[in-house]
Amino acid sequence: PSMAQNGRVTTDFKQSNQAHNSNAFARREEIRQQRESLPIASVKERLIEEVKKHDVLIIVGETGSGKTTQIPQFLFSAGFCREGKSVGITQPRRVAAVTVAKRVAEECGVELGQKVGYSIRFDDRTSGVTRIKYMTDGLLLREALLDPYLSRYSVVIVDEAHERTVHTDVLLGLLKNVQKKFPPLKLIIMSASLDARVFSEYFGGARAVHIQGRQHPVDILYTLYPEKDYVDAALVTIFQIHLEERHGDILVFLTGQEEIEAVERLVQERLRQLPESNRKLVTVPIFSSLPSEQQMRVFMPAPDGHRKVVLATNIAETSVTIPGIKFVIDPGFVKARSYDPAKGMESLIIIPTSKAQALQRSGRAGREGPGKCFRLYPESEFEKLEDSTKPEIKRCNLANVILQLKALGVDDIFGFDFIEKPSRAAIVKSLEHLFLLGALTDDCKLSDPVGHQMARLPLDPIYSKALILASQFNCLEEMLITVAMLSVDSVFYAPREKLDESRTAAKCFASPDGDHITLINVYRAAEDLLEKRKWVPHTERNEKIFKAKSEKIFKRWCKENFINGRSVRHARDIHSQIRGHVEQMGLRITSCGDDMLQFRRCLAASFFINAALKQPEGNYRAFGTGQVVQIHPSSVLFQSKVECVVFNEMVQTTNKYIRNVTRIEYMWLTELAPHYYTMQS
Ligand code: ADP
Ligand code: MG
Repeated sequence: PSMAQNGRVTTDFKQSNQAHNSNAFARREEIRQQRESLPIASVKERLIEEVKKHDVLIIVGETGSGKTTQIPQFLFSAGFCREGKSVGITQPRRVAAVTVAKRVAEECGVELGQKVGYSIRFDDRTSGVTRIKYMTDGLLLREALLDPYLSRYSVVIVDEAHERTVHTDVLLGLLKNVQKKFPPLKLIIMSASLDARVFSEYFGGARAVHIQGRQHPVDILYTLYPEKDYVDAALVTIFQIHLEERHGDILVFLTGQEEIEAVERLVQERLRQLPESNRKLVTVPIFSSLPSEQQMRVFMPAPDGHRKVVLATNIAETSVTIPGIKFVIDPGFVKARSYDPAKGMESLIIIPTSKAQALQRSGRAGREGPGKCFRLYPESEFEKLEDSTKPEIKRCNLANVILQLKALGVDDIFGFDFIEKPSRAAIVKSLEHLFLLGALTDDCKLSDPVGHQMARLPLDPIYSKALILASQFNCLEEMLITVAMLSVDSVFYAPREKLDESRTAAKCFASPDGDHITLINVYRAAEDLLEKRKWVPHTERNEKIFKAKSEKIFKRWCKENFINGRSVRHARDIHSQIRGHVEQMGLRITSCGDDMLQFRRCLAASFFINAALKQPEGNYRAFGTGQVVQIHPSSVLFQSKVECVVFNEMVQTTNKYIRNVTRIEYMWLTELAPHYYTMQS
């Protein structure tokens, strides 16, 4: 309904202005109607009363009922933002914070960053007048470092609490504390799952209200046999729906950017093989590292007569509701963090969803009318799924949150009132990890200055430490690029059908020393294309021409070299942000020039916990954990014969692989990390 209309060409300014006004009027009217038809609209007054009456309130409501977009506006209009105070709403996911803030700004008829804004790591769109502020749960935790009582907020809403991310869990503990000491802060916990009990009990029997949703019947279809390749199965199902089913958009749940982009390419390819009349299918990706200007595309209707296929991570499960979906394809998998405290190793693994997740996913098909959900596994498998997902705090490395809790003055981590306590072993291991990085003193206090500096940087502690060390090794410039590139998903892509070509292309950036320097090479090559302007005089016109030209050249370069332009741009963005942080901290930003030996020594000094040594039979053994691992095929050191390496990531598929690997000398470890390498032997 909200398709942009083709503007009539008119020469009369007044007339076109009028047309614009009536268009804007129609849009406002449409939004007003949409808002009024949301299930939550009818309980507005009651909700406001409940918030006034209770300092802690739990609101449970089906996905799409209007909790996230409407409740903050209700509170604003009820006067909760007087005296310069704001309503803060946390989201586990960046995409949700951004897209919802944009929507609410539009609903309020204001520019984003004014009354309504968002703030996520590396991207802040708020100002002094912002009163409704969407942010990630991790960001509010960071704010607490500077403002322990969260005194700028009158209400904090912890949204999507059922997701139970580690940040949400820690935030709940913190808020519980703050509220005890500072009662004027109102706390609302919102969740899509019906089980409000855990939250209610945690907050001493807090009041819970339920909002009735609207849900149409959804037909659930299963496969007869297990699928060997769910990406392929998803592809087949997309075209089956496209060619055989009535109109309606499709939502496919995939596990990450790489998979989404692969499916996007495969869909395009198959479309080209279909007769012209059957090609009216458009794909729209949505995942967390997608540039924010592209994220809003999922909410736009497909062009007339076209069907839209949304390729999403589990972001679309409960965090964002996409209109128009009638068909859901659910392969039944999700990417999750997994932590082995005995080995101190965190990895990302692809695991089956829980029953609760499967139900949420199928529910997405029945928002606007009856729908269908295609589960790409047999019905017997469904019965075997876990009821609900294990809270993240039980399966992740806690170093990051412990560092933050310490910076907040919570020294006794074991005594902290978590909603669900992480295992003692996990806490011990993470404390040990921080200690090894030099963030903690012997009596487990934050060290000065390293520990405090590390807590200030919005990065994984090991990366923060790498930056601090790099300024001593004179290679902070190189390390900034490295950390930025390691913070984004897959810079290279290797489509199955063009594997050889892409590998050949990647070779021009490859450094025999390993992936970190290779990443720097890619970054610098991209930077050259996008910024080299020595040869043009600096005028506004030239600037424009240059920009358009360099964008075009950049795109072609990405395509020819199988480089993911989105990821590189994202890395450039992150780079400039972290650079700002380290400048503020007063670290010296210098480059080691061609002296990559210096840089590799710095990598060894930073990532010594993740070092591995070649074994006689050709595998590697990780020092810290004793695990036998292999170098991932995507690494430039795959099949090389280097003796000793450091790495950043371990992934487990059929084998245990290490990724982002660089060659070092074994001797450096005892020299640069004697506290670890004498302890080990
Ligand atoms: P809940 O939080 O209860 O799941 P939301 O407040 O997120 O519900 O969504 C309410 C409605 O607003 C949904 O119908 C959804 O489609 C719509 N909506 C949310 N964000 C956008 C957007 N960016 N563009 C268009 N519609 C949106
Ligand atoms: Mg919501």
